Amino acid sequence: MNKEMLQYFSEVLNRQLLDALPEARGMLPGLLDALDHREPMDEVDFASHQYSQEFNIRIHRHHHMKFREILAAIQRLSDGEYGICEECGDEIGVDRLKVQPFTTVCLACRRQLEMLSGAGSKRMKRSSSQGMEQM
Ligand SMILES: [Zn+2]
Repeated sequence: MNKEMLQYFSEVLNRQLLDALPEARGMLPGLLDALDHREPMDEVDFASHQYSQEFNIRIHRHHHMKFREILAAIQRLSDGEYGICEECGDEIGVDRLKVQPFTTVCLACRRQLEMLSGAGSKRMKRSSSQGMEQM
């Protein structure tokens, strides 16, 4: 990848990092504030309170993951490893990186990994239930 492209992706990733920052930080306190203004809770309120807490954490985790992926991509840029597939070592390709700047594998490897992880999780379920039976 040439210097211009690296510069381009460095700008894209830094912008995405800034976008992800207020999202990752802001969402949780905002919704907790809204809950604080409510009347003391009866049982129904308590249940919905717990539900929104759970929902919050899920959103929060999602943004946190994206945040980490962007940070990792910026790290790879500075290490000179950006745009190289982690699996096969080929170039990921500018077109794919433009769509997903923080991806770590090329399209062919992505597909293969998806297939493997689908089969892998089934295998894991089976072996863990076997483990339970043995106990
Ligand atoms: Zn690859």
